[in-house]
Amino acid sequence: MTTMTIGPTSEKTPAPPKLNPPERLLFGPGPSNPDPRVLQAMTANQIGHLDPYFVELMDQVMRSLRGVFRTANHHTLPISATGSAGIETIMMNLLEDGDSAVIGVAGYFGHRMAEMARRAGADVRVVEVPSGQTLDPAQIDAELKKKPAKLVGFVHAETTTGACQPIAPMVEVAKRYDALVAMDCVTSLAGLPIDLDALGVDAAGSCSQKCIGAPPGLGPISIGPRAMQAVQARKSKPHTWYLDLALLFQYWGEERASRSRAFHHTAPIAMIYGFHEAMRLILEEGLEARWARHQTAHEALVRGLDKLGISLFPAPADRCATINVVNVPTGVDEAAVRRRLLGMGVEMSGGLGVLAGKVWRIGVMGYNAQIPRVERFLGALEEALRAEGWKAA
Ligand SMILES: *Cc1c(COP(=O)(O)O)cnc(C)c1O
Repeated sequence: MTTMTIGPTSEKTPAPPKLNPPERLLFGPGPSNPDPRVLQAMTANQIGHLDPYFVELMDQVMRSLRGVFRTANHHTLPISATGSAGIETIMMNLLEDGDSAVIGVAGYFGHRMAEMARRAGADVRVVEVPSGQTLDPAQIDAELKKKPAKLVGFVHAETTTGACQPIAPMVEVAKRYDALVAMDCVTSLAGLPIDLDALGVDAAGSCSQKCIGAPPGLGPISIGPRAMQAVQARKSKPHTWYLDLALLFQYWGEERASRSRAFHHTAPIAMIYGFHEAMRLILEEGLEARWARHQTAHEALVRGLDKLGISLFPAPADRCATINVVNVPTGVDEAAVRRRLLGMGVEMSGGLGVLAGKVWRIGVMGYNAQIPRVERFLGALEEALRAEGWKAA
């Protein structure tokens, strides 16, 4: 008998080296460093995802998440995938073929939301402003006056430009035309003031790894009653199985129903443990205190950057405390500074799209929004700048 070998067999693949990731201070646009308590929680005993303990934990996580979003929306849960999947869940369920949507675009993530809405089958009209600016609600009003839309979408904290969109005026204009309001709060939930119900936002999506302070892997969303009515009134099923809200709530538990759980997918148990602990930390601290902590850390960062002669890209009134987009000082090789900084164990990011090479993106989020950590970041940045030939003015 002859044996034929096609390529290496599994026995011949050598075992890879042991995992040994370096320690990093994560001041990029995400992920941020999780609180040690979150990482600890993720190592708790594994149980089955339909174990009564886990089912109770799912309910608890939904309750906590409602607290973090400041909403009474029953339909509030973490999608088992990153923040992008949360936003896509909203677009794929609220919109269907033939619907009309107006998406405000102030940067890369606005474009991405528009693309998701198109893929959901909607006729999308984009209202765009130049990088670094925020949308003027009057532009949205003008677009809706021309032709109504089922949904108005926008990004609260545009991570590519560092500009923060005031929420209330956007909701006001959308409601004037009876449109649903969808918001990307991926870089703001648990870092910037958000009160979903008081604001009247119909659907919002965030992520686990930025201001919430857990590792990446979950996309928390909240869908209000007006939006759920639209979901229930769909003419066709969403063009997605994994992100179908109707199926997801047969698993996570539908209000008033028997609350029996139908298997949909296996919830990422360890991620949910970590997320639960992150929610616990947020609610222990209190949202107001947490928002204030992010603001204080941001102000300390801006003061330190100012001493280094580094200015912020957006105008003062438009800045997000959580994501600081700053102008690269003239005469320095921006990529070399970032490389050197990373060599010192500190991460920040470069610009995306039209801002590539022109700006750095410095996130001050979650556990990192503390003065000593901001000071460590500033000290390392100054050292990296000097090492790259930069001189204080
Ligand atoms: C980070 C980010 C996303 C993407 O989130 P992921 O968790 O990476 O999928 C979406 N929108 C905004 C505004 C972001 O900053």
